[in-house]
Order: sequence, then structure tokens, then C-alpha cells
Amino acid sequence: MKEHRGLSADKPVECHTQVIGLGVAGLGLAMAADKQGRLDELLNKGLTFIDKRAPDQWHSLQYDIASNSGAADFLEGIRRDGMAAELLASPLGEKILASQDGLINLQVVASFFEQLARQLADEVSGYSQSGIIHGQTVSELRLEKDGSVSSLNPARQVLARSRQAVIASGGQEQLLQPLQQLADQAEAELWCSEAILRGAKNTVLGERIAAGKRIVVVGGAHSAFSVLDYLLRYFGDALGEQQLMLFVRGPVRLYHRSVDDCRQLSPLADVSRLDRASGEVNRYSGLRGDARQVYMDVIAGREPRVSIVTGDDVTAEHVAESGCVIQATGYRSRSPVITDAGGNIVSVAHHHGNLKLTDTFNLQAAEGEPLTALYALGLGCFNATEPHFMATGEVPVGVNIYHAQDAQRIFRAIYDAPFSHQRPPSYQYAT
Ligand SMILES: Cc1cc2nc3c(=O)[nH]c(=O)nc-3n(C[C@H](O)[C@H](O)[C@H](O)COP(=O)(O)OP(=O)(O)OC[C@H]3O[C@@H](n4cnc5c(N)ncnc54)[C@H](O)[C@@H]3O)c2cc1C
Repeated sequence: MKEHRGLSADKPVECHTQVIGLGVAGLGLAMAADKQGRLDELLNKGLTFIDKRAPDQWHSLQYDIASNSGAADFLEGIRRDGMAAELLASPLGEKILASQDGLINLQVVASFFEQLARQLADEVSGYSQSGIIHGQTVSELRLEKDGSVSSLNPARQVLARSRQAVIASGGQEQLLQPLQQLADQAEAELWCSEAILRGAKNTVLGERIAAGKRIVVVGGAHSAFSVLDYLLRYFGDALGEQQLMLFVRGPVRLYHRSVDDCRQLSPLADVSRLDRASGEVNRYSGLRGDARQVYMDVIAGREPRVSIVTGDDVTAEHVAESGCVIQATGYRSRSPVITDAGGNIVSVAHHHGNLKLTDTFNLQAAEGEPLTALYALGLGCFNATEPHFMATGEVPVGVNIYHAQDAQRIFRAIYDAPFSHQRPPSYQYAT
């Protein structure tokens, strides 16, 4: 399904900027323009969003767990009297506003952004130069010789051509090779935490739990403890003693409002990830809310249904006995492949599977040269010049970062770019 004025199968859209992915992050770019009171100008220049999903298949943040950040964070990049004003005044908006710094179920937040995306679609429909293409996967972004960018679908059909592109296609859990091998050997199933938290494995998990099988989870951060919380809530009394087994490699980090709070819990706790601006410890990577509570209950001996194994890796025996493993170990970029005008792959720099960005949010070629026509935003990105990362080593991840900070900066950069294909290429092509 396509929703774009003037889009036809054999005529690509020509626009100023294309955004690949209309999830929470992609939406942030429009919100950033709205916050500056310049959405109208951006839409007049020509903005095209391309998302592989249909409008009624919103999935960003669609998890039945509590957020890992305060409710107010989700609204930080949104202008209160702008495009979202009516939605903020609705019961849904009021629910998020009323939660302030408290945690909130992510499905509530997902509904809010889904409605905001619909509102954006209404807004965009008033501009002949802008539009949203739904139901098309961008598998390749081609850097043309004249400096423009073309997006191609898997059939190699050009969908849009623009002065610049913003990759906001999110991240995905990449199944770890050693775990995959263990699972293959044991003829066991390997699932990502995302599938569990979206409720996609409830039936099969219920059958295994009823048969007394142990459920093995691998990971040590928010996703892993959220999986435990989900399973405890969903399967409750059906779970026997130590039927959930979590394998943790690194240290488990907890969120603390202040160093004092942290010291009260444990005088020897690691406070190296202290955000000096806010006073918080482990601001982005620490466990909060229900996920944190599960951890505290287990280590205090109050949660007999869960055992935590630290240091040791999951073994073939564990996997064979369980018949399934849930991996909750971090995200990697889901970016389309980047090619040059000749169709050769342009290697881009990564940091642990995430797109490594320059201080201007541009992608970098593997040799370090910035690809000035390509920006990236959201999950699956890593900006080594981000001040919080430079001060603490902690990678900031969250809607407040994508919207209130990164999207604002990308908006300013793309807005000022002239709409002309007659500029030098952003990548030096191999001759
Ligand atoms: C379990 C879990 C809990 C989280 N909790 C929080 C939290 O409490 N607070 C917080 O701020 N953040 C949280 N996050 C991070 C959260 O996922 C991100 O903030 C947000 O969902 C990322 O948005 P995104 O737009 O980058 O990616 P996504 O939400 O994945 O959206 C990407 C969009 O791009 C589209 N797309 C992908 N590939 C293509 C393609 N090739 N072509 C066209 N379209 C494409 C997809 O259809 C999708 O609509 C959590 C993440 C997880 C996994």
C-alpha cells in the first residue's frame, strides 16, 4: 500500500529529504521541525517518509512492559501548542502528562505515537511535495554521482530521490552465533526478547511451562529483566521453583536518582556512570521500575521462581534440557545497505553493530570520511561525540534523546541544505 501524492510505480518521488522508517525516531524529525515552528516550511521543501509497514501496523514501543524512563521523557521533544496539541489534551495525552516522572506502560506510549503518526499523515496530505510511502522496504540507499540519494526496494525499484536521507529504521536483536550453534545442536528454539515482549510466543511458552520445562534467558540489562517480569506476570503461579533461569555475563547496573541513593543501597556500588548534569547514576543503562524490582527480589531471595547465574555461560545441557533460549543482549542497526552510483557496497563504520555517526549525525565511510548526504537517528545509532557518552562511557538511548536532542540537530542541518542535485558527491567513488 502506498500513500503519496503523485507516486507511481515507475516514477520515483523527487524530494528535499527522505526519511527511512516512520517509527518513534522518524516521527521525531517532524516533531523537531514543529518545535521550531517550521514544519510547514519543511513540508513545503518536500519531505518523504518511507516505512515498510502499513499505517495500522504501528509497532514502535509496542511492548507490554513498564518504560525504562519517566513518562515526561517521551514528550520532551514535542511542542505543547503545536501539531500534537489536540492529542495532548485527549485522555491518552493527559494520561502521559499526569504520569510526569513516573514510569508508564510502553503500550500507552506506543498508542500515543501511533496517533501522532496519523496526525502527521493528515498534515502531510496537505502538501503536494511531501508524502508517506507505506508498505515499501528500503533495502538500499544509493549515493548518486550528483550528490543525491536514491532509495531502492528489494526489486531494485527507485522509490525516492532526494538531496539527503535520514535513516530511522531502528535496530534489531542480532542472534548471537555461539547461542545459535548451541540451539542448533540441541534442536532447541532461539528467540529474541522482542518477540516475547510483543506477546508472540505466549502459547508455546505456556505449553513448555506447563510441561515443567525450564526457560533459559541470556542477558543482563533492561530487556532481560523485562522478559523475566513479563513471564512472571503472564504465567504467574504456573511457574515452579527456579523455572526461569537467567545467565548474566557483565555487571547488572541499577538506576539511581543520586549518588546518595546509590550509596545507601551499597557503599561499594560503581558510580562511574554519574551524569553530572542531572546527578543520576546509570541514567540510560540502569534498571528501573518493574525490571529493577525483579532483580532486587531475586537477589534478596524473595523470588524463588527465578535463578540468576553470573559469570558462567549457558551450556549445551541447559539448552537441551530447556528446549528454548531467549536472547536479550542488545540491538544492532537495521539500516539499508549503502551503495555508490555503480552499485558497489560502501562500507560504513559501526560500533558494536550500531551505525557510528559523526558529530553532525552523518554516517561515516569505514575509512572515516563522513557521508554528508546520509544522517541517522534512533535505535541502532551510536554517536561517539555525544557529551554524555564522552563523560561517562554510557550510551544514551531513549525517545527523549532522539527527539529533544538528535532530531533537533538533524533538522537544523537538513533544513539549511539547498535542494539541488548539482553538488559534489558526498562520497569519493572508486575509479
Ligand atoms: C524492550 C525495549 C524497551 C524499551 N524501553 C524504552 C523506554 O522505556 N524508553 C525509551 O525512550 N526507549 C525505550 N526503548 C528504546 C525504543 O525501542 C526506542 O526508543 C524506539 O522504539 C526506537 O524507535 P526507532 O524509530 O529508532 O525504531 P523502531 O521503533 O524500530 O522503528 C523503526 C521503523 O522503521 C521501519 N523500518 C525498518 N526497516 C525499514 C526499511 N528497511 N525500510 C522501510 N522501513 C523500515 C519499521 O517498520 C519501523 O516503523 C526500548 C526498547 C526495547 C527493545
